[in-house]
Amino acid sequence: WFMGHRYESSAAASDSSSQAPPPAEKFEYQAEVSRLMDLIVNSLYSNKEVFLRELISNASDALDKLRYLSVTDSEISKDCANLDIRIYADKENGVITLTDSGIGMTRQELVDCLGTIAQSGTAKFMKALKDSKDAGGDNNLIGQFGVGFYSAFLVADRVIVSTKSPKSDKQYVWEGEANSSSFTIQEETDPQTLIPRGTRITLHLKEDAKNFADPERIQKLVKNYSQFVSFPIYTWQEKG
Ligand code: ADP
Ligand code: MG
Repeated sequence: WFMGHRYESSAAASDSSSQAPPPAEKFEYQAEVSRLMDLIVNSLYSNKEVFLRELISNASDALDKLRYLSVTDSEISKDCANLDIRIYADKENGVITLTDSGIGMTRQELVDCLGTIAQSGTAKFMKALKDSKDAGGDNNLIGQFGVGFYSAFLVADRVIVSTKSPKSDKQYVWEGEANSSSFTIQEETDPQTLIPRGTRITLHLKEDAKNFADPERIQKLVKNYSQFVSFPIYTWQEKG
């Protein structure tokens, strides 16, 4: 891959008895994404809750794409019940998990979508930022343009994306950390982590954002955003 660097080559060939998953591969973000991530991570932007709007909108897009495909693909339409979004808030550990049963991503799509800037909104954001004479410009621009998936790093210092596309028989996990210029992708084989289809995003919240892992707060935020989403959104928590 042109922008990726393989950092651990597979040594499993000589050890076929081992059930260990294939090793993680490390990729560098496109330079523009690194800049964007720096901005997001170090931003004093106070309206951090926009991360939820962005992730819900991605989940909704993914469900739309699946529904669209199901019209022409009988394999997919057979299995098209339960198109929904589930948000789990783990207060104790400061973790939020957002799962959709949408289109998911193949390994290549993970590399392309969550390592480069493809989306037009973010490209506009970067352009506006460049044009902005105001030193604190990013603070307003983040909310104005939306920074898409990367807005997860407004609240999380570690983000894990497990995803399964109907185009692939394998599930992959993307993992990125705030203040890192690289991310990893690995095949996921542990039965406990496998999903039938779609994407599960796990946010390990920063110390100052842990209070987002509160089902009531999430529910309130969801109410604001869900009016534009045509799929059910469930929020849940462990019984206390
Ligand atoms: P945008 O949504 O404007 O395209 P984002 O940064 O929000 O930009 O997301 C980048 C891309 O990552 C999306 O276009 C999509 O291809 C992929 N993606 C993000 N979240 C999901 C998801 N939950 N399911 C499937 N693909 C996703
Ligand atoms: Mg988006």
